[in-house]
Amino acid sequence: MASERTRRLLTALSIAAAGLLAAALAGAPLFAALLAMLAGGTATALFQSQRSEGRSSGPASSAEASPRLPSVLAALDDPLLLVKKRKVLLANPAAKAVLGAHIEGADVRLAIRHPAAAEHLAESREGGARIELAGLGGQDRRWEMATALLPDKTRLVRLSDRSAAFAAERMRTDFVANASHELRTPLASLLGFIETLQDDTAAEDKPLRTRFLGIMLDEAQRMHRLVDDLMSLSRIEAERFSVPREPVRLLPLIDQIRVACGRIAAERGVELVVENRLDSEPIVPGDGTQLLQLLQNLVVNAIKYGSQGTPVTVHFAESGVDMLRLSIVDCGDGIPPEHIPRLTERFYRVDASRSRNMGGTGLGLAIVKHIVGRHRGRLEITSKLGEGTKVDVYLPRASS
Ligand code: ADP
Repeated sequence: MASERTRRLLTALSIAAAGLLAAALAGAPLFAALLAMLAGGTATALFQSQRSEGRSSGPASSAEASPRLPSVLAALDDPLLLVKKRKVLLANPAAKAVLGAHIEGADVRLAIRHPAAAEHLAESREGGARIELAGLGGQDRRWEMATALLPDKTRLVRLSDRSAAFAAERMRTDFVANASHELRTPLASLLGFIETLQDDTAAEDKPLRTRFLGIMLDEAQRMHRLVDDLMSLSRIEAERFSVPREPVRLLPLIDQIRVACGRIAAERGVELVVENRLDSEPIVPGDGTQLLQLLQNLVVNAIKYGSQGTPVTVHFAESGVDMLRLSIVDCGDGIPPEHIPRLTERFYRVDASRSRNMGGTGLGLAIVKHIVGRHRGRLEITSKLGEGTKVDVYLPRASS
C-alpha cells in the first residue's frame, strides 16, 4: 500500500516537473509561473483523485484542478485561453475583449479565426513555439501566440500584444523609405542637369547654363537642408534622456532669428513682433542651440505659411507657477483640423508641393516636438481656417 502511494506521489511530482519544464521553455516569467502553477494544480488533482477510492479515472483538467484559476487568469493583462480537445475551456476577460465574449465552449479555431493559429493549435502539435498573428481585434493589431501543452493535454494559449513594436518598426521602415525618396528626387534632378551640361551645345549656351546651374544650386541646397535636419533629428533623439539645464535667455535668440530670417521675412512682407507678458526676462533651463532651432523652425513656418504682408507674433507669458508659455502666432490660411494631430510626424505635410516650393523638408515640426520633449515641455498647435495658426510651447522656467 505504502509503495503504491509512493508511486502515485512520484507520478504527481513528475507531472509537476514536466509543467516546470514547459514553463522554462515558454520563456516569459509570468507565463512560466502560471504554467508551473497549472502543472502543480494538475499534479495535486491527480494525486488527490488517485487517493480517493473508486475515482481514479485519470487526471482532471487544469481548469478543474484549480478553482482559483479563473481569478488568476482574470488578473493577467494578456489574453489567455485554456483549450482542451480544441474546445475553449476558459478564457480570461482580456481574451474575451479581443476574441469575443462568448468564446468559452467554442471550437478554438472559431475563437481565434486565423489560419496560422488554426494550424498551430492542431491536436497533434507540441507546445512551445511562437507564431505571429495579424489583424485579431483590429486591422493594425499584431499578436504573438505562444502555446504550452500541460501534462493533462490541456493547452495554455497566450496572446501577447506586439502592436506597439510593430507600429514602431513600420515607422522606422517608412522613415527610411521617405528619407530615401526625399533625397532621390533632388539627386535625380541634379544628375539630369549635369548630363545635359556635359553636352557641348548646352554648355556653350550661356543663359541656359546659368539657368541650369541655378536649379542645380537649389536642388543641392535642398539636399543639404534635408541632411542637416536628419542629422539634427538623430542627435536630439540620441540625447533625449539627458535633460539640459543651462539657463538660456530667449530674447537674444529671437534677435538672432530676426537676422537669420531677415531675407524671407522681407520677401513676404512679414514683420516679426515680440510681446513679453512676463514680469522678467524669459529664461529657461535648456540647450541654447536646440532652443534656437525650435524657435527658428516655428518662426520660419509662421512666415512661410502666414499670409503675405501680415505680422508674425512671438509671445511670452506665464503658465502656472513654474511654466512659461511661448506662442508663435501667424495670420495665414490655417490648417484643417484633421491634419493637426499628424503635423509632428516626420515628412507629414498638409500640402507637399507648397512645402517643397517654400524649401521645406517636412521635418521642422518633428524636430520641434523632440526638442520640446527633451526639455520636458509640451507642444500644442491650434488653428482656425482663414484666420491663422498658433503654436504654443510650454517649458519649465528657470528658478530665480
Ligand atoms: P515643412 O518643412 O514642410 O514646413 P514642418 O514639419 O515644419 O515641415 O511642417 C509640416 C507641415 O505642417 C507643413 O508642410 C505645413 O503643411 C504645416 N504647417 C506647419 N506650420 C504651419 C503654419 N504655421 N501654418 C500652416 N501650416 C503649417
